[in-house]
Amino acid sequence: MPATTNTGLWSQADVPHRGWHCVGVEDIRPDGQPEDETEYATCQMCGNERIRFVHMMEHPEFDRVVEAGCVCAEKMSGDYVNPRLQEGRLRKKASRKARWLRRKWRTSHKGNHYLNVDGMNLVVFPAKFKPGRWCFRVDGDFSRSTYASHDEAKLALFEEFWERLSD
Ligand SMILES: [Zn+2]
Repeated sequence: MPATTNTGLWSQADVPHRGWHCVGVEDIRPDGQPEDETEYATCQMCGNERIRFVHMMEHPEFDRVVEAGCVCAEKMSGDYVNPRLQEGRLRKKASRKARWLRRKWRTSHKGNHYLNVDGMNLVVFPAKFKPGRWCFRVDGDFSRSTYASHDEAKLALFEEFWERLSD
C-alpha cells in the first residue's frame, strides 16, 4: 500500500480540520475515458491516491486551495450532501458526453447534423466565412467560436447544451 498514507494534511498541526468550503469540483475523466487510460488524483488531506473527483477546498485561515476526495471534503466542510450530489452530476455529464458523438444525429434538408433533445434544437454546420471550420447553434443562438472539426463542434455544443440543461 502507498507509503503516502501519513503524509496527508490531516496530520499537520497548522491545518484546520473544520470550516472549509468547496470552491469547485473537477472530474479528471470529464469525457468518460476508461479508468485505465487516466491517472487518478490524490487527496491532499488523507493521501488517498485514487480520487476521480477533486474537491477544491478553501479556508479563511489557510493560504492555498486544498484538493480533497469526497470523504475528506465532507468532513472538512461538515456538508454530507452536496459533495456527493456534485459528483453524481459530473458522473452523469461524463457518461452522457462519452455517448454524445455516437448518438444518431439526424440530417437536415441543408445537410447539417442536428438533434432535438430536452426541448432544445441543436445543430452543427460549416462556418460560413471560414472554410473548413465548424459552428453550432443551440435553439436560436450561434456559437461564438468556430471549431476545427465536426466532432469538435459537437463536443463544444454538448458543453453549451449541458449548461443550459442545468440552469
Ligand atoms: Zn481524503
